[in-house]
Amino acid sequence: MHLLVVEDEIKVARFIEQGLREEGFDVATAADGESGLAKATGGAFDLIILDVMLPGRDGFSVLRELRAAGVQSRVLMLTARDGVGDRVQGLDLGADDYLVKPFAFAELLARVRALLRRGTAEEAVLLRAADLQVDLRARRVTRAGQLVVLSGKEFGVLAHLLRRAGNVVTRAELAEKVWEDLQNTPSNVIEVTVYHLREKIDRGFSPTLIHTVRGAGYLLQSSPP
Ligand code: CA
Repeated sequence: MHLLVVEDEIKVARFIEQGLREEGFDVATAADGESGLAKATGGAFDLIILDVMLPGRDGFSVLRELRAAGVQSRVLMLTARDGVGDRVQGLDLGADDYLVKPFAFAELLARVRALLRRGTAEEAVLLRAADLQVDLRARRVTRAGQLVVLSGKEFGVLAHLLRRAGNVVTRAELAEKVWEDLQNTPSNVIEVTVYHLREKIDRGFSPTLIHTVRGAGYLLQSSPP
């Protein structure tokens, strides 16, 4: 398992690095946001431990850039501030968990192990396309930071389109995966659901995410088909 620790406080960084090495992890370090971003983008890390307070580019900015670049490594944020706002901001930007400083090494290790298990055993909890974010566990959808309330079927269609982002999804596939009834789901029921879904997540936002591919089905991507 390859881990990256981005932390400017040398004592803290060394404490984490040595502890994780003793547990058998392969650990790289970076002492500021810019070098952390470069290492995280270049290397396939299973987990990145990312401090919020860094000189120059802070942890939130690093995380935003990483997710925008499509880096899917698990991210555990370290914050000295106990503010709810910081934690929410980190999670909204795509962090997988956070830990408030100061912390005991045993607690860090427990979080690291839990995240690595989750990373391999479960699918991603958060799906994204442009500024659309879908939390599959909480069934929470936001577009440009605004909460979007969807019906159960609308949510199912959106989650399926996101999982298959960049690929054309047929109405038959939606009938099977979302309605769980390939034979008896009228295509106009699917069309109406997609219509309502678009009204909620695409109307008034840019770029358009859900596209109709004539004669084939639907396609979710942030550029025109
Ligand atoms: Ca720091």
